[in-house]
Amino acid sequence: MYNVMSPKAEEFINHEEILDCLEYARQNKTNRELIDRILEKARERKGLSHKEAMVLLDCELEDKNQEIYALAEQIKKDFYGNRIVMFAPLYLSNYCINGCEYCPYHAKNKHIARKKLTQEEIVKEVTALQDMGHKRLALEAGEDPVHNPIEYILECIHTIYGIQHKNGAIRRVNVNIAATTVEEYRMLKEAGIGTYILFQETYHKENYEKLHPTGPKHDYAYHTEAHDRAMDGGIDDVGLGVLFGLNNYRYDFTGILMHAEHLEAYKGVGPHTISVPRLRRADDIEPDAFDDGIDDDTFAKIVACIRIAVPYTGMIVSTRESQACRERVLHLGISQISGGSRTSVGGYAEPEPEEENSAQFDVSDNRSLDEVVKWLMDLGYVPSFCTACYREGRTGDRFMTLLKSGQIVNCCHPNALMTLKEYLEDYASGETKAVGDALIQKELEVITNPVVKEKVVDYLTHIREGKRDFRF
Ligand code: SAM
Repeated sequence: MYNVMSPKAEEFINHEEILDCLEYARQNKTNRELIDRILEKARERKGLSHKEAMVLLDCELEDKNQEIYALAEQIKKDFYGNRIVMFAPLYLSNYCINGCEYCPYHAKNKHIARKKLTQEEIVKEVTALQDMGHKRLALEAGEDPVHNPIEYILECIHTIYGIQHKNGAIRRVNVNIAATTVEEYRMLKEAGIGTYILFQETYHKENYEKLHPTGPKHDYAYHTEAHDRAMDGGIDDVGLGVLFGLNNYRYDFTGILMHAEHLEAYKGVGPHTISVPRLRRADDIEPDAFDDGIDDDTFAKIVACIRIAVPYTGMIVSTRESQACRERVLHLGISQISGGSRTSVGGYAEPEPEEENSAQFDVSDNRSLDEVVKWLMDLGYVPSFCTACYREGRTGDRFMTLLKSGQIVNCCHPNALMTLKEYLEDYASGETKAVGDALIQKELEVITNPVVKEKVVDYLTHIREGKRDFRF
């Protein structure tokens, strides 16, 4: 039985409920009256149920689809303005005991180079990341209790927060490691992590089990209930994701929204972020071997419908996507992107030798962080290196309260401008700096509170003079 409040994976992600929902959406894909009613509800900006969102995803009326895209764009602007938060992944280790069919780190892959960063190597990698201008990292690791126990992850986090090179600092470390126990989540919380991110890969239990034939990740319930345990361990911000291409996208779209509804209902706070990765070619992995790949149009529609369904949830797109594809989905709902990423274990300090490939997947967007920052500004976005909410304790429901208060323009916007200014001063090329300084002048006008505005102008002067780390 479907039960959003149940702690059991198979009840809050209920197979029959998903099938009913998919059939309902299929039958109503040209039901103008119903689609209009759903759009009207969506305009209240309080979100939609998985069933309503699925009808929009299936909608085949061209004029209504245009309305869906326009509404997603408007909600994106209203909630997130034109700010895009920047981050980079850091792969700590690719040792893994799981058998994930789509991931080159699977235990049976004997030709991928296995690597695990030492603390000295982490210092080098993080120094290189700081020198690019990054302030926010997503740590990635395979699952291996011998090579990558929790103590290793904790030591890495401790090392990373302690590295201070010139004006650089990593101010927020998010973590994407395998599902674990409440006790270990508590340790991660105590180590000061930001978001705990775990992708479900697919919500379809039978396919999930086939795609994860061996290793601890095979346990569907343990994996699906991990975010609940993370919250029980005190982690306020959790991130969801499915790997599009592994399973029918309609099924997983419904599943991820049911998961978001469950977190909101059962834990009182919805997911902090939703990621939308698509399967990529990798060592030992050919995406064409999987039948459920989605084209760019479907991908864009998914982003737009998620944006409408969960307006308060950030959305992440990585360098798995090309520049063109990223450009298309940015205005439909994406609020965070990575830039200058390496998906190998190491590779920021020095490029990885070709004969030693340890990468998790091929990157589509190979531009440097500076190029990505300039590109965003040319498109009218404000790249933000802000980490203030987490550092001010505005996590979980407190972050949601800020979002709902309408005070973003007097808090997030100033923080974005000040962290962009730091980036321009310390790391940008001359051309990027010129574009950025002009943009900051223009964007100051968005701040409505005159006291805040005056303070920001003052702080910007201090930043120009060499002081760092101002925030609201
Ligand atoms: N080992 C952890 C786990 O099992 O959740 C950490 C996650 S892994 C380092 C990060 C994510 O990369 C996976 O959750 C998966 O969705 C994604 N991934 C794996 N293989 C991929 C591929 N070939 N193309 C694109 N993304 C992939």
